[in-house]
Amino acid sequence: MITIKDLHKSYKMGSNSLHVLKGINFDVAQGEMVSIMGSSGSGKSTLLNILGMLDEADEGSYHLDGKPIKKLNEKIAARYRNEFLGFIFQSFNLINYKTALDNVSMPLYYQGMKRKERTERAHHYLEKVGLADWAGHLPNEMSGGQKQRVAIARALASDPKVLLADEPTGALDTKTSYEVMELIQQINDEGKTILVVTHEDDIAHMTKRIVNLKDGIIIDDSVVTQIRATEARQRAYENV
Ligand code: ADP
Ligand code: MG
Repeated sequence: MITIKDLHKSYKMGSNSLHVLKGINFDVAQGEMVSIMGSSGSGKSTLLNILGMLDEADEGSYHLDGKPIKKLNEKIAARYRNEFLGFIFQSFNLINYKTALDNVSMPLYYQGMKRKERTERAHHYLEKVGLADWAGHLPNEMSGGQKQRVAIARALASDPKVLLADEPTGALDTKTSYEVMELIQQINDEGKTILVVTHEDDIAHMTKRIVNLKDGIIIDDSVVTQIRATEARQRAYENV
């Protein structure tokens, strides 16, 4: 689903340049659930933004579902983004004066979907994330966990091939983080390819594979063992 080869990215600031990604290689197969872990500043968001077509690498190649992602015109880029990618962010990025239903259905409006189908889909995905009774509520009437569930429903509504989550639990308490990760696991169980960026070890261990990023280089890329997954789960419950 995702193939990246020797990806480099620098940020230019005046005459200075900060080399953030220093030759990243990895593949993600369809149906995988992978975390990109690393401390703050290691380049996780930079990498996720490139994968999400919100930014472009300076060097290297990126293929998404077999298609080269390079120098696309904005129309094709927008189509790929809609068709392939769903985003979840730490800060939810909901529209505060719109109901949960409208937050979920609005991107579908911009994709040209008719009202009836938009509304049906939005209800379907709100139900899927456990918020069937919250469709008419505004974000500020909801808890952090509920807001993230709305954001997840919104990301899923266009049925993208890949879900990209940047610190999806970063603004949530431990118990809620765990519940949101369980929901994301369930979505993966149903077949969705998912990438989760996190700096938290136990959150990373709720995925199936951890790509460890340090100073713009992958220092480890391993499958999560059952033992470590169980330990992380136990710790999460102890903290509740
Ligand atoms: P992470 O998500 O792992 O915390 P980021 O990818 O956000 O790391 O950032 C990696 C480095 O790049 C940091 O030193 C950060 O300050 C810098 N950086 C990120 N975005 C920009 C930008 N738009 N312009 C300049 N520097 C940036
Ligand atoms: Mg980040």
